[in-house]
Amino acid sequence: MRDPYDVAVEEGAAPSATVGEASSGVVLLGKYELRKLLGVGAFAKVYHATNVNTGQSVAIKAISKRQAFRAGLVAHVEREISIMRRLHHPHTLKLFEVLASKTKIYFVLEFAKGGELFHKVAQGRISEDLSRLYFHQLISAVRYCHSVGVFHRDLKLDNLLIDENMDLKVSDFGLSALKDHIRPDGLLHTVCGTPAYVAPEMLAKKGYDGAKVDVWSCGVILFALTAGYLPFNDQSLAVMYRKIYRGQFRFPRWTSPELRSFLSRLLDKNPETRITVDEIIRDPWFSKGYQEVRVQHKEVVGEQESRGRGLNAFDLISFSSGLDMSGMFMEAGVSYGVERIVSGEKAGNIMGKVEEVAKAEGVMVTKRENEEGAKLEGQKGNLVVVVGIYRLTDKLVVVEAETRERRVGNGARFWEEKLKPELRRLAYKPEAGKANSV
Ligand code: AMP
Repeated sequence: MRDPYDVAVEEGAAPSATVGEASSGVVLLGKYELRKLLGVGAFAKVYHATNVNTGQSVAIKAISKRQAFRAGLVAHVEREISIMRRLHHPHTLKLFEVLASKTKIYFVLEFAKGGELFHKVAQGRISEDLSRLYFHQLISAVRYCHSVGVFHRDLKLDNLLIDENMDLKVSDFGLSALKDHIRPDGLLHTVCGTPAYVAPEMLAKKGYDGAKVDVWSCGVILFALTAGYLPFNDQSLAVMYRKIYRGQFRFPRWTSPELRSFLSRLLDKNPETRITVDEIIRDPWFSKGYQEVRVQHKEVVGEQESRGRGLNAFDLISFSSGLDMSGMFMEAGVSYGVERIVSGEKAGNIMGKVEEVAKAEGVMVTKRENEEGAKLEGQKGNLVVVVGIYRLTDKLVVVEAETRERRVGNGARFWEEKLKPELRRLAYKPEAGKANSV
């Protein structure tokens, strides 16, 4: 049977749209209207989309599960979801939620309207002042990630996106393994997967320090921004390897003495003496105009809790090879006003319970046409809740209730004290260790 949500990538088939072309306006899981196809990879397609409820622009990365499974990338994908969920910094790309259908995993990401910084550089080098500005943002993100124990290990221009305010967003924490892209422009992307950004100690295969490797890649990025080309590059891979290994590069003549000295410290082939992220902050070229971005360290407890409770996105993705997961989704971030549960109850029973709770409180229920779910309205206009039921497996459904605006008074009381507890009572509670047998 064709997966109703399987709109993004049909394995083995020709893509339904080419890069840059408008897609057919398909609405994914009733929530995201697909707009333009932004890029196509070996495992993924990236779309620009809008949230039909809020109008928010997002980027949706659709990954073929079958291909990810075949390539042994599932553990990788799971790890990256968990990493991205931990990162809350103005210069790391946000992962809003993870959705899944029978054959696809969808990453709903912050949309970076300006695209890749790479495209800017492809048009010519950037002034030292502007490069410094981007580099401040990059280092701020890298420093934050390192402070929470996350190392990117694949920093490159292709992973640096620009938003509508011209702010930098570091993307693809590890998802880069899924990047092997067919691009319309070719050019430097053909170097993708080559060691252009790889630190010498990685080539030596002696084991390496993630922080030092990231600093090296940042050096390659800064060089490329200010020079307009990569520091280590050659037609012959063997020659490129040798250049990196020896740390052999030449500055273009326009490079200022301060930048030369800074780049030499970043691109120090010896990881022991290479500049550290904390030293970068104090470097004379770098420190000009640098302002520390204050980020609140959030406690990451939700993930452990939800794992303990049973099914979650991680489990569902891991166990999905044999399951019909049409319509399954799981929110990665916590968004105000959305309650989402997995239930083993029949959809009719769930709707019955919802109606019971609503009627007891004088809340009007309008059933959805053609779909399982309803709209609840009442409390003198202070309450609008949309309830949807989506089939997950033969035995399980996902129930989603959403109230978009902050509710007060009786509206808030109904939402917090009546509806949410009722839904939680309906939640599926697997026996310990048996989550994958549903
Ligand atoms: P990727 O798979 O990350 O290489 O992305 C493929 C194409 O989609 C590239 O041209 C990216 O610039 C673009 N892209 C990826 N993620 C986003 C995003 N969050 N916002 C805007 N464009 C993106």
